[in-house]
Amino acid sequence: MTIAGKQLINGEWVDGRGGTYQAIDPSTGAKLDPVLTMASAEQVTCAVVAAQEASSAFRHASLDKRASFLRACADEIMALGDTLVLRAMAESGLPRVRIEGERGRTCGQLNLFADTVLEGTFLDVRIDTALPDRQPFPRPDLRYMNQAIGPVVVFGASNFPLAFSAAGGDTASAFAAGCPVLVKGHSSHPGTCELVAQAIDKAVKSSGLPAGVFSLLMGSGREVGAALVVAPEVKAVGFTGSFGGGMALVELAAKRKEPIPVFAEMGSINPVVLLPETLAANAEKIAEGFVGSLNMGVGQFCTNPGLVLAIEGEAMNRFINRAADCLAQLPAGVMLNEGIQQAYDKNVVAIASQYGVEKKAIGKDRGDNPGFCGQPTLLTVSAADFIANPELTEEMFGPAALVVKCRDLGEMESAVKGLRGQLTATIHAAEGEMSGYSELIDLLTQRVGRILVNGFPTGVEVCHSMVHSGPFPACTDARFTSVGTAAMNRFLRPVCLQNYPKELLPEPLQDNNPLTIWRLVNGKLSKEML
Ligand code: NAP
Repeated sequence: MTIAGKQLINGEWVDGRGGTYQAIDPSTGAKLDPVLTMASAEQVTCAVVAAQEASSAFRHASLDKRASFLRACADEIMALGDTLVLRAMAESGLPRVRIEGERGRTCGQLNLFADTVLEGTFLDVRIDTALPDRQPFPRPDLRYMNQAIGPVVVFGASNFPLAFSAAGGDTASAFAAGCPVLVKGHSSHPGTCELVAQAIDKAVKSSGLPAGVFSLLMGSGREVGAALVVAPEVKAVGFTGSFGGGMALVELAAKRKEPIPVFAEMGSINPVVLLPETLAANAEKIAEGFVGSLNMGVGQFCTNPGLVLAIEGEAMNRFINRAADCLAQLPAGVMLNEGIQQAYDKNVVAIASQYGVEKKAIGKDRGDNPGFCGQPTLLTVSAADFIANPELTEEMFGPAALVVKCRDLGEMESAVKGLRGQLTATIHAAEGEMSGYSELIDLLTQRVGRILVNGFPTGVEVCHSMVHSGPFPACTDARFTSVGTAAMNRFLRPVCLQNYPKELLPEPLQDNNPLTIWRLVNGKLSKEML
């Protein structure tokens, strides 16, 4: 497989007519070959029309066929071998072990969605059989199931060149729901996107699905991305990135003749609360784990622990000192691209210059590293100053964190009250300690999508029970997760068939339950025939 810098539109690889550009290796700043093309507005239109045309056939494809397609995507991605790994490393600056791990996660989630499709619970079938003799009115036969909403636009995320990009979680969940996908690839890793799109294209063809089921369009967000979001054929958008980018898409989607949902995940500082008993016993160990989590992937995870809250005292000082010592040993790491590195430096300076903020430690400088490097940074502030200044809750996307020193539990609760929506909160607690902090824990729970105990938030398991979401501004819709099998729910809508001719019922709703799936029949879960 080679990278040709083309767009995938309706099953054809074509040169984009919207200009050219080159990817950049963030570890050297050098341009990567070949020259790549960007899609034009007309090409975006061709792709969305093809997606619309593919919609009905894909929605009605059997669950077997959909599952086989998802597995074929995973197999074709693995078949790209080292070509994919090396290109993703070159475009992201991430090490081989991370890229291989991400490839495993990408293929693992495609296969997990395949299993989920076959299991059938996502259809949420509900049947209320007719009660013709009911008084005073008879009840009609009512049958409910989820259906695909139609074409979905996915914005690849800069920080996951594989697992949240062309064939990442958004794409896999939309495919699993039965929706065609149009990917606006991230300009940070265009060659990686193209290789993965070649794999998906092969899977579409070998599965006998219509060509419009998947398209890849490269180019600027404001042009190609915006054109995709406003296209009338598109029914939803999946996005991971900046608050500004996410909200721009929300506004575009809301202004359409038919407004559509934008499921945007836009940032989080992921508070970590250290309760006193465990802190007294484990300050140094927690500090070491915290710095490891903070610096993982050069801090470029949405679940990076950017805020720590602890009650002042000798144990908190031991935590800060140990964290500072560990962090000072860390080298400056290569960040994903120049824009992200510059934004990181700017955000750290902005937070560090706020009233009351102290710089406790910084990692080693970049030395002669020619890449776009970010220096790990540890800052501290009193809870009083933190509470008085909402700017201190802004994300520093990268390996930087702020420790908030609270006088007592009341001040810690006030600091938590000042937090906006987050993806995660982490509580470090000794055995039985949490039961004394129910108010604090409730305040945290109201603000996040996931609460972790005695761990660190980086590392998001892809499984059935994961919630990777949170109240605004972490996400635009806290009711839906973007990681895990429940992510499919973003791209489904329920349809009820009332007194529908039995011979025309879709398989999941038929009396004899030919798919043997769980259904809620007259209020009871069952796999039985009617
Ligand atoms: P971004 O700037 O929001 O870009 C993400 C995608 O959205 C890109 O494809 C971009 O297109 C597009 N886009 C951005 N603004 C747009 C607009 N106004 N209209 C239409 N499309 C738009 O995010 P990024 O490039 O990944 O990183 C920038 C910053 O976002 C980081 O420094 C970090 O602060 C934050 N970020 C957060 C997370 C998280 O998980 N919380 C993850 C990644 C990044 P282009 O190709 O034109 O750029």
